Amino acid sequence: MAVTEQRKAGLDVERIRADFPILSRTVGDKPLVYLDSAATSQKPRAVIDAEREFYERHNANVHRGIYMLSEEATELYEEARVKLASFIGATDPATVIFNRGTTESINAIAHGWGRKFLKEGDEILLTDMEHHSNIVPWQLAARATGATLRYLPITDDGLIDLSTLESSLTDRTKVFAVTGMSNSLGTLTPVHLLADAAHAVGAVLVVDGAQLVPHVPVDVRVLDCDFLTISGHKMLGPTASGGFYAKRELLEEMDPFIGGGHMIHEVYREYSTWNDVPGKFEGGTMNIAQEVGLAAAVDYLQALGMQNVRAHEEEIAAYAIERLQDAGARIVGPVDVSKRGGAVSFVYRDVHPHDVATVLNEEGIAVRAGHHCNQLVMRRFNVAATTRASFYVYNTRREVDALVNALGKADDVFGA
Ligand code: PMP
Repeated sequence: MAVTEQRKAGLDVERIRADFPILSRTVGDKPLVYLDSAATSQKPRAVIDAEREFYERHNANVHRGIYMLSEEATELYEEARVKLASFIGATDPATVIFNRGTTESINAIAHGWGRKFLKEGDEILLTDMEHHSNIVPWQLAARATGATLRYLPITDDGLIDLSTLESSLTDRTKVFAVTGMSNSLGTLTPVHLLADAAHAVGAVLVVDGAQLVPHVPVDVRVLDCDFLTISGHKMLGPTASGGFYAKRELLEEMDPFIGGGHMIHEVYREYSTWNDVPGKFEGGTMNIAQEVGLAAAVDYLQALGMQNVRAHEEEIAAYAIERLQDAGARIVGPVDVSKRGGAVSFVYRDVHPHDVATVLNEEGIAVRAGHHCNQLVMRRFNVAATTRASFYVYNTRREVDALVNALGKADDVFGA
């Protein structure tokens, strides 16, 4: 089917499922129901093949050799950068830096930009819904520079409390770092509005795009964010793929994070000069095969159409929320699907989330139970943990039914 026809038709989920070898696995005698894509997504055959083909036909180190394989490997690696840049609307591919994903990216930004430009008296604004990887690197940067951390609170219905935005963003704020979509609450944040607010006080906006980029059409020109992180492994790509986007002038002025081969221009006994962007941020042998695999994931998502991906997840999240609530679960996060994505956290009666997950596993259902690296969120909602079902392009209503039916088994086991 031509891509445009496929877009009009929405997602053909059964056809998509056939592209994912792992989805035909069983757990004991039960078919696997994979509802943990917020932790990591499954990989279509096209991605697995691209990585295998790279190793079988093109493997060599990049930017080094003047022989054919190295040239081919470099071409594939740089083509992956062009594809990823175009996927997020970045017009200059050099503004996309490759690395292992969001955790490494935020560390690179907090280190390379934060430690260079923050000083005592400056403020770093975060929100209470950040993943630990968008908190801890800033705590380290604050400790190193004397800057102070501030947080925007969360409303009862799981949104960022914007009533405190004006008083929290001041001319002392130098960085505002916020998630584009919460991995525990599922909340979508108003990135464009937050970028405008940050820029009005001269701060840079760092967007944790780990959950945003895989699930929603993203255009950095429209969002006007200064930094955007990308987790390839959550968007059908290999583990340790992805990286971050930044406006070129920021990449030029910030420090590198990892020192070593390739990231230098010249090395002297006492100092070195840096390679041009993006090489300045890609020291050492990179995750070449993984980024080549990610390029295949980008092709796959683009053929589906990101509008269709978003529409499918809105539909399935709405169905899951309705069925879970009917079954007696309490949703932790927004219930309005226009304000959220497909990561649905819930607390089921009095059953501990780890017990819920154990019972579900016996039915072949993979969900996540715990604090989801969101301890501030757990404290805000007064829970030690939640159970989280998270959906992606390959999930069906039938799987939501399986989840809800299996919850009934928790009643039998734990007498809830
Ligand atoms: N931020 C959010 C919102 C996430 O969901 C995750 C992954 N759980 C991360 C950051 C960390 O991303 P990565 O696994 O790419 O380091």
